[in-house]
Amino acid sequence: MLSVEAVCKTFGGVQALRNASLTCEAGEILGLIGPNGAGKSTLVNAISGVLKPDSGSVRLAGEEITGRGPEHCARAGVGRTFQTIRLFKDLTVRQNVEVAHITCRAVRPDAAKRIGVDQLLQQYELAGFADSPAGTLPYGSQRRLEIARALALGPSLLLLDEPAAGLNEAESETLAIAIEGIRRDVGCATIVIDHDLRFINRLCDRLCVMDQGQVIASGETEEVWRDPRVIEVYVGQ
Ligand code: ADP
Ligand code: MG
Repeated sequence: MLSVEAVCKTFGGVQALRNASLTCEAGEILGLIGPNGAGKSTLVNAISGVLKPDSGSVRLAGEEITGRGPEHCARAGVGRTFQTIRLFKDLTVRQNVEVAHITCRAVRPDAAKRIGVDQLLQQYELAGFADSPAGTLPYGSQRRLEIARALALGPSLLLLDEPAAGLNEAESETLAIAIEGIRRDVGCATIVIDHDLRFINRLCDRLCVMDQGQVIASGETEEVWRDPRVIEVYVGQ
């Protein structure tokens, strides 16, 4: 579904991405991990059109989407959440989900028929706040709303940047179950960034490990944890 090849991005003197490559299949949950500053969010921004890479390519189901901008990428089927929550704070909870569903109805009408706004609000425990401004929700509910909004797009690729950040253990477990449900019901390719390795190891089929802008290892979760370079990044510093 997703193929990222040799993406580079420099900010001033900082090489945030150096030839970063990865793939993610439909129905797969890929964990994207690595220390702070490794380039994980920059890579997600490059995939979702928020940032234009200096070089390299991003293809979604064979379509070149490199540097096409966030709107194009969203219409092409890239749904995402942000490390720092970015909702339409003054719109209601329902309107936040509606905005994405309108796009879905325009570009993927069949998918839109399978997705109900009310059903998403129910599923993500947001129905009770449906008519409240999104900015007034408690933190954990705002995190759930970001996911519901991404799903209302009918994505073929879902990018979750630290969705478990700031959640307690019970909330993280509920989130992991929800992400497994997305794999089952939506069948999209899913990439999850998180620092909670228990959460990641429990959830992900494969891992992609980044350090200093490079992908230093990728493969099946258990296999990656036997890689000496990964152990060095996590333990040897
Ligand atoms: P991660 O998500 O893995 O913690 P980031 O992708 O956020 O890492 O950052 C990678 C590197 O790029 C860091 O050195 C960070 O400071 C730098 N960086 C990210 N975004 C910007 C930006 N908009 N302007 C300047 N530097 C940036
Ligand atoms: Mg980040």
